[in-house]
Amino acid sequence: MPISPRLGAEAAAANMAEIAPRYTPQEAVIEANRCLFCFDAPCIQACPTGIDIPSFIKKIVNGNLTGSARTILSANILGASCARVCPTEVLCEGACVVLDREGDPVKIGRLQRYATDHVIEKNIQLFQAPAKKSGKRVAIIGGGPAGLGCATELAQLGHQAVVFEKKPQPGGLNTYGIAYYKMAPQVSLAEVEMVKSLGVEFRCGVEVGKDVSINQIEKEFDAILIGLGLGGGTRMNIPGEDLPEVIEALDFIERIHTQPLHQVAVGQRVAVIGGGNTAIDAVTQAKRLGAARAAIIYRRSQQEMPAYEFEQELAKTDGCEFLFQLAPVEVVAQSGHVAGLKLARTASTNGKLQVLAGTEVLEPFDMVIKAIGEQKQVGLLKKLFPALELDKRGVVVNNRDTGQTNLPHVFTGGDCANGGKEVVNAVAEGKKAARGIHVFLAGQKITGPVQPSRYGVKGAPIGSGFYRPIDLPALEAEYAKHDK
Ligand code: SF4
Repeated sequence: MPISPRLGAEAAAANMAEIAPRYTPQEAVIEANRCLFCFDAPCIQACPTGIDIPSFIKKIVNGNLTGSARTILSANILGASCARVCPTEVLCEGACVVLDREGDPVKIGRLQRYATDHVIEKNIQLFQAPAKKSGKRVAIIGGGPAGLGCATELAQLGHQAVVFEKKPQPGGLNTYGIAYYKMAPQVSLAEVEMVKSLGVEFRCGVEVGKDVSINQIEKEFDAILIGLGLGGGTRMNIPGEDLPEVIEALDFIERIHTQPLHQVAVGQRVAVIGGGNTAIDAVTQAKRLGAARAAIIYRRSQQEMPAYEFEQELAKTDGCEFLFQLAPVEVVAQSGHVAGLKLARTASTNGKLQVLAGTEVLEPFDMVIKAIGEQKQVGLLKKLFPALELDKRGVVVNNRDTGQTNLPHVFTGGDCANGGKEVVNAVAEGKKAARGIHVFLAGQKITGPVQPSRYGVKGAPIGSGFYRPIDLPALEAEYAKHDK
């Protein structure tokens, strides 16, 4: 049977509403007052983008919500998204000293959300394009977190960043690939507006290599950032994989973000193949959209599941099932539609996974969602940049601190270079790449990590305290040429 939507508009909206409601003003102040405002705050070290956490929390205590949001967003322009999607339990909150003292950390993520919601909902303009321009142009290929992090930093440094995005909207996974109950796409799009307010140009619906060639880009721009993310899903290579009700987890999640919730087709019995956080996002949303049965099928044991424990708990609370040590060997069809999954038992011998012959069982399912990872875009990258060095993680980075590749004018960051990490890692890598690009554009050799003191340009920087004017004669002279 073809699959169809299962819930009415009201029920679908209620089930998919944000699971972590915003603090009330009283709750926010009480929580903020739990912070010890540590001098050498370990939470800052644990944040890849280095948000000054005690400072933004202090501003909440003082009722300065706009200042608080400014502290957050000037270090991480995707601070509103990250407040919702970061695994804070293993990043800032995992490092919070209150966790050791009281067994419960300061809820940094929820406070961050409280402050950033304030400026987004009130449409408060925090940033503006710097008056001083360098005259340099940088092409950003891919409008996801790495691209947005890089474009923001470049814009603040006075460079013209132009983002090329294949999809109709920028934001990457933040706009199209996050569980809806964690974050609706409007939050991501509000952040894109902030990036635009810095003068960053977006060319959406434009596919590099098809609608515009690298040659054209190289003629028009002085440097390039590759922030392409990952590509299509990995194939299972089993019979029945191409049936219409077998879909990729990210495609399923994208449908949820681009269709009215009550019109998203879901099976009555949904199998999700995989054990990562995307698998959890898929299984919980299938269940919340009305599937009677939604089950994770993972070929290894629970202990080996890469999904965070708190994510697994959420799926269990939602009523999702977990089937371990089972591998799909066939998607069984009836009249051209998915009717079940043939699963075989697995066992690990010396860490090597074996599918045990003769152990097959048939489980009835009418929808199969694959969440077994996305492929590196090796083919596309080779086509775009034949001389670019690639390895099994994706783009090889010559300098981890700046994202510079073997092609001096080409930088990278995010999933296409790190093999797939968190949103906040991609933003941080985009920022680092912007710093590297900044030094490259001044004709300087990049020899190591680019600290803020190496790229400050008098007059240009705004935003975070990172951008203090620094007297750096070579850069000053370079940019002075464009001030005439
Ligand atoms: Fe506050 Fe915890 Fe960070 Fe210390 S570690 S500054 S208590 S949030």
